[in-house]
Amino acid sequence: MNFEDYNTLLVQEIGNKVGPTAPVITPSASYGYKDAQEAQNIFSGASKLPLYARVGNPTNAKLEAVVTKIENGFGSIATSSGMGAISMVLNAILNCGDEVLCIGGFFGGTYTLVDETLKRFGVKSSFCEVDDFQYIEEKLKSNIKLIIIESVGNPGLRLPDIKKIADKCHEYETIFVIDNTTTPLLVRPLELGADIVVHSSTKNMSGHSASLGGIAVFRAVNNKKDKLLNTKYKDLHKIIEKAGAASLIAICKKRAMRDIGMSANAFGSFLTLLGLETLALRIKRVNESVAKIAKILNEKLPKDISVNHPSLEKSKDFKNYKMFFKDGCGPILTIDCITQNRAFKLLDSLSIVTQTANIGDNRTLALHMKSTIYRDFDGKSRKFLGITDGLIRVSIGLENPDDIIQDFLKASLHV
Ligand SMILES: *Cc1c(COP(=O)(O)O)cnc(C)c1O
Repeated sequence: MNFEDYNTLLVQEIGNKVGPTAPVITPSASYGYKDAQEAQNIFSGASKLPLYARVGNPTNAKLEAVVTKIENGFGSIATSSGMGAISMVLNAILNCGDEVLCIGGFFGGTYTLVDETLKRFGVKSSFCEVDDFQYIEEKLKSNIKLIIIESVGNPGLRLPDIKKIADKCHEYETIFVIDNTTTPLLVRPLELGADIVVHSSTKNMSGHSASLGGIAVFRAVNNKKDKLLNTKYKDLHKIIEKAGAASLIAICKKRAMRDIGMSANAFGSFLTLLGLETLALRIKRVNESVAKIAKILNEKLPKDISVNHPSLEKSKDFKNYKMFFKDGCGPILTIDCITQNRAFKLLDSLSIVTQTANIGDNRTLALHMKSTIYRDFDGKSRKFLGITDGLIRVSIGLENPDDIIQDFLKASLHV
């Protein structure tokens, strides 16, 4: 599907043709059941009427239906945040003693979730580079439970060969989860063979930075022949027997959302839907701007300030960019000023760009990495994630790209 098709799909799906044209907000936490029989049917799943807002809500359902369409999935679950979606998926699938393999760079919260929080519950983790297929295969052979990657490692910007990793996961019957926050519409991981896609809808999907949210999108499960029927997932088999195609949704709701409660709220989902209406327009605009800004800043900034973006020929991932990310790889580029002091000077000399810890916003944002998101990380973890002393992450917005270029060029005179 191309951007023009998405423009039609998104506005058609999100509004209503009859009655209120904007999405309807249903803030109720509970829902009256008509009679005892209806209550039983709702709890058994035979009726799809709302049960209680912790496990679903009509406004969230609208958001879930739209995101399921754009990811070409079977169904979705909206959550309170991107970390809520990732926690839900990992909590639902992993048990004490299981191991998860994390490939490539990671958002700080995902890294600490795996490396600190899940570790406290006995879940083991390992990390490797996006192209270390020897290690990936070794790990898969050792019967790990799950692989997680980001479609574009943030902020290192390494680009994985998603299809190749998905094929390996199929060969070894292992669940493959992709965080597609950076590249909605640009990458459709389920079509490449992923099992679950997670997003922080706080970022590109909303764009307006008015709503924290997340969503997980699932493929259909074939309860006759599916990699989930592998004996290493035997604790899930009872749910799969009953839930069939919707098994991954049932697994996440019953084994995480119901008991932990990382549920989206109706008003948040409404705001996310408003952002989603213009997603395709914004993604096209931003990705064209990023490539232009990276190219010109790479040429014009002083040589001791380096620009990193996969669209630049010097990038390690230029080949994967050309092959797999034809319409761009999201809003991020990075600028390395070598030292923290110089990075601070550059940041504090910018007049248009906003300094904040967000990405995928309608405004251009920038942040020094080591002193903020990655401040608690040890040297080894920072090295793996590519967090150097002078690294600034920039997320390009909707402004005139020439204004952003001028803002950085002028600021560089003060470094
Ligand atoms: C921001 C982000 C998250 C976490 O999302 P929240 O909505 O902030 O919880 C996860 N993954 C990536 C790639 C992100 O950028």
